[in-house]
Amino acid sequence: MIPMVDLGKQFGEIREEVLKMMNEILESSQYILGPKVHEFEKKISEYTGVSDALGVASGTDALHLSVEALGIGEGDEVITTPFTFFATAEAIIYTGARPVFVDIELDTFTIDCSRIEEKITRRTKAILPVHLFGHPCDMKAVMAIAKKHNLFVIEDCAQAIGAGVNGKKVGSFGNTGCFSFYPSKNLGAYGDGGLITLNDRGLSGTLTSLRNHGSKGSYMHDSVGFNSRLDELQAGVLLVKLGRLDEYNRKRRQKASLYREFLCDAARCPSEKKGAYHVYNQYTILSGNRDGIQKMLRENGVSSVVYYPKPLHLQKALGYLGCREGDFPCAEQASREVLSLPMYPELDASDIEKIAEIIRKAA
Ligand SMILES: *Cc1c(COP(=O)(O)O)cnc(C)c1O
Repeated sequence: MIPMVDLGKQFGEIREEVLKMMNEILESSQYILGPKVHEFEKKISEYTGVSDALGVASGTDALHLSVEALGIGEGDEVITTPFTFFATAEAIIYTGARPVFVDIELDTFTIDCSRIEEKITRRTKAILPVHLFGHPCDMKAVMAIAKKHNLFVIEDCAQAIGAGVNGKKVGSFGNTGCFSFYPSKNLGAYGDGGLITLNDRGLSGTLTSLRNHGSKGSYMHDSVGFNSRLDELQAGVLLVKLGRLDEYNRKRRQKASLYREFLCDAARCPSEKKGAYHVYNQYTILSGNRDGIQKMLRENGVSSVVYYPKPLHLQKALGYLGCREGDFPCAEQASREVLSLPMYPELDASDIEKIAEIIRKAA
């Protein structure tokens, strides 16, 4: 069976370093907001090119706390994409605000910036673009619209750590960048974890307090906050892997070019916009015969997954938003036609050839 990701193979390569790190942390007796978390925050802020980085409990929390810290809530609207993981919308809704969707571009699966302005109202407070599957959004366009209409920008970087536009990394454009360290992300922990990047000392103070019960310490509480911290053991794992992240991403890009070489005449392959550095958290193709391809892959021992089978505006939980089928044709077409193929740095070239062979036959 060729899996979607092979985390065991990766662990095999870093086992000694991870175990040494775990041992050091366990001996230290510092398990929450200790030195490894601070070291990791410092290294990630240097890596993404921002002044501050704050570890939190998950990518969902990174998004939620960002919306909260920017003072967005009841009666406010946040513009985002209907073609993303559900958590993107949940984070907005937790604060009492309302997600307002804008369709995607089919070639990158990211928000169609030419359609954002028509959705801006008096209530709009922020734009929340998602760098889906590892492809960065057109941040030049997003930031120009935000500036013109005086809106905040919260980047969902959960699938795109290391991606960038013209050499500037995702997470360094908006008011905050929100990262997830869910195990299957490009930088994955061995459990849940997340992080917020930002260039704003004041907001950083608010978030430092929000992630820790609204307190800056010594049992004094300025606000009602949350328990949302990155733990020391996960920070240790992430420190070991961060040193290898660029190499992992380079390898993903090599796998992607192999897929493209073998597949471009059999299915619609993901494209890279000019200046965009795609980090391929997923390698996602489009085909009118998606279900046939998936069946054939399954019969031949190859995993594949439909990310995402139903766009957010048609999800039962979001029925109260009053959207209907036909509202976002590109997101709907994507949901009917996408298929994500096995993608991880250790994937063998011969496996890619085999997968492509099966897809070419099915198509
Ligand atoms: C994974 C993911 C999240 C949520 O991250 P968690 O760490 O699982 O909470 C949010 N948005 C997107 C696009 C994701 O892929």
